[in-house]
Parts: sequence; structure tokens; C-alpha cells
Amino acid sequence: AKRQGKGRYCGYLPTIAARIRERLEIEQGLHAALAENQFELHYQPVVDLKRRCLIGFEALVRWRHPERGMIAPDQFIGIAEESGFIEPLGRWILNTAIAQAAAWQQAGAKGLLMAVNVSARQFNDEQLVDGIVTMLARHGLAARQLEIEVTESTVQEFHRSKRIVDTLRERGIAVALDDFGTGYSSLSLLKHLPINRVKIDRSFVIALPGTARDAGLISAIMQMANSLDLEVTAEGIETPEQAAFLNAVGCPAVQGYLFSRPAPASHFTTEWLCHYRE
Ligand code: C2E
Ligand code: CA
Ligand code: CA
Ligand code: CA
Repeated sequence: AKRQGKGRYCGYLPTIAARIRERLEIEQGLHAALAENQFELHYQPVVDLKRRCLIGFEALVRWRHPERGMIAPDQFIGIAEESGFIEPLGRWILNTAIAQAAAWQQAGAKGLLMAVNVSARQFNDEQLVDGIVTMLARHGLAARQLEIEVTESTVQEFHRSKRIVDTLRERGIAVALDDFGTGYSSLSLLKHLPINRVKIDRSFVIALPGTARDAGLISAIMQMANSLDLEVTAEGIETPEQAAFLNAVGCPAVQGYLFSRPAPASHFTTEWLCHYRE
């Protein structure tokens, strides 16, 4: 029986071993990566279709690995979260995004919003808000120009999360519920947490406008958002038809490859920022 068991799994073992090795390599590489400045933030514009202007940016982290090339956040954020490394990495991300927003403000692109993703462990750290307030003061950025993006999975212990969202809001920092509609308790979170904005997940946008069901869901989300006084951003817009549909149902704030892929800050020159037109 033992031999049989061995035989059954032997085809999988190398892949599992390789995955464990890769995971270990990533986990061990994270510390050196931060020390050696291998992380970078790319920024994706969020635009207003109706007013035809730039609203701001979402900061998205990447790891420029010396051997493996550019590593996407999905490959290391989870590992960083589990190993606790997300705390120093998360601080670096927040500080870098706030510094960049302040630099754009000083360069003349006034009042842009900077949205920063925060993971569960980072969000549930009681030091988070004080840390952010200190960074805002250090770089001279107004609190209203920062938005913290959380997902359903960020909210682990409800009362604690509520306290943190309340404190962020008291300090004038906005909170967006990311990947809205993909989890099971999006509505109950909206009921209990003073969220400012929902970000409609890309999975609802992909089949627009052809799919009546998705179109209906988006219209329903817009009605709900209006009656709750929530702002809405739709993610993953890739076609002019999707953009036209969203604008028509009253969702002017969008981001997606149609407008721009995430890019390093240097891509968005002062000229780009000040003369940006959809
Ligand atoms: P997310 O927050 O939902 O970010 C949106 C993702 O969609 C980004 O992938 C972005 O590049 C991609 N995207 C934007 N427009 C389009 C489009 O039109 N079409 C398609 N197909 N994709 C589009 P990215 O940068 O690989 O990030 C993946 C996820 O990793 C993010 O999902 C977020 O959950 C996480 N993440 C990224 N940066 C950070 C960070 O700084 N901190 C934390 N905690 N998580 C991050
Ligand atoms: Ca996000
Ligand atoms: Ca999202
Ligand atoms: Ca996502």
C-alpha cells in the first residue's frame, strides 16, 4: 500500500517541491529587496468620464527582481502578509505613495487623489492611522487627498476594523471598499462601516454592455450607491463601449487599460498631468 501511495503522488512531488522552494525564495528575498530598493510603485490614473479630467491615481506595487524580472503583487503580497513582512513593506508603500502625491501637488497638479491598497494585517495594526498621519504631515499632503483601499478580507475582527475606519474618517482620510461585489458580505460591510467609495470589480465590467445581467447589476449598484451617498469607481475598463455604458448609468469615475496601464511616476510628466484629457 505504501508503494502504491508513493507511486500515486510521485508525479506531483516535484511540482510541490518546486513551489515550496519558490515560496521560500520569495519569502527570503523580500527583506533584501526592501533594503536594496527593488520595490517600486506604479500608478494607474482614475479618470472622470463626465468632466473629462483626471481624478487621481491608484498605487500598485511591483518587485523588480534582479534575476526574475518584474514580479506582480499577487506573487508576493500574500507571502508578505503571512510572514509579517507586509508591515515594513506596507509602510514603505504608504510613504512612497504619499511622497509622490505631494510631489505632484507641488508640481502643479492640484487636488489629485492617491489611492493605496492596504492588506489585512497592515490594516488591523493599531499603529496604522498614527503612521499615516505622521507621513501626511512629513510630506505636507492633505488628508483628503489620500484614500485607503480595503477588501472584504481586510476586515477580520469587525469591531476593531470599525474603530480603524472611524479613526481614518475622523482624520479626513477616505476609505474605499475594493473588489466590491466579489465577496459574500459586501452589503453588510456597507451597512456597518463608514465607507466613502466602492470600487466595482472588473469581473462585472468585462462583459459590458452586451450582457443584460451584468448591466443590470451595475445599474443596481449605482442606485444603491446614490441612495447611500457613496462614490463609485469602476475598474478594468478596456473598451470605449464599457466606458460609454458606465458613464450612461452615472458612473463617471473609471480606471482601466483603455485610459492607461499602471506606469512609473516618471511616465506622468507635468504636461501629461496638467493637460490630461480623456
Ligand atoms: P486591485 O487592487 O484590484 O488592483 C487592480 C488590478 O487590476 C491591478 O493589478 C491592475 O494593474 C489591474 N488592472 C487595471 N486596469 C485593468 C484593465 O483594464 N484590465 C485588466 N485585465 N487589469 C487591469 P496588479 O497591479 O497586478 O495588482 C493585483 C492586486 O495586488 C491588486 O488588485 C491588489 O489586491 C494587490 N496589490 C497591488 N498593489 C498593492 C499594494 O501596494 N498593497 C497591497 N496590500 N496590495 C496590493
Ligand atoms: Ca485596489
Ligand atoms: Ca480591485
Ligand atoms: Ca483584486
